[in-house]
Amino acid sequence: MYCYIFVLLCVCVISVIAMPGVYKVDILDNEVHSYNFPFVPRSQWHARGAKQTTPLRTPVPFVVIHHTYIPPACYDKEECCAAMRQMQCMHMDGRGWWDIGYNFAVGSDGAAYEGRGWETLGAHALHFNSVSIGITLIGDWRTEIPPARQLKTAKALIAAGVELGYIKPDYKLVGHRQVRATECPGQALFEEIQTWDHYSPFPNSVADLINVKELPDSVKENLIANTTAVV
Ligand SMILES: [Zn+2]
Repeated sequence: MYCYIFVLLCVCVISVIAMPGVYKVDILDNEVHSYNFPFVPRSQWHARGAKQTTPLRTPVPFVVIHHTYIPPACYDKEECCAAMRQMQCMHMDGRGWWDIGYNFAVGSDGAAYEGRGWETLGAHALHFNSVSIGITLIGDWRTEIPPARQLKTAKALIAAGVELGYIKPDYKLVGHRQVRATECPGQALFEEIQTWDHYSPFPNSVADLINVKELPDSVKENLIANTTAVV
């Protein structure tokens, strides 16, 4: 009898341990993607916690490329982590946003830095955040292009996003200036990205947004109703 109860207890304990849900939660909590380039998660640059987050609907159809202009280019992990903290403070304290605006940043050290990440709606391109991942190349790229390793990692990050299912395989790549009246991502970098796979000349300006089929109707209604907000 005791033996029977013991066996029954063992079976119960084993089945609780072996419940797939138990492991799944652990795996999700500790989910780590592996990348073939240096990747610096938020914890490593000592990010502040986001005030709030909104999920991003993925896979997204667009990637938007930015430059930071300020802060300037950074060439090692220490400098780039400081740049990330500076941007996060500018965006949260200066502009009142919930977090650093970009989904990711790439430094001239050749590392990618996690901003809001793959699964959170960004604040980097007005009217275009819900359909895109925003990647900034840290530095002022108006007259010179970023170092080769920075460009290489930006491209690898996009490829990883496709591989992981966060970016559509037939995504379109645009510069920030194509969706808002801004100099971003700088003339030199803008010319550079026009040579990249998936570069799309459409949309070409804010005026084209109304004809972007991927944009939700609510955004288009907002565009029409609030035209002063787009310049
Ligand atoms: Zn920009």
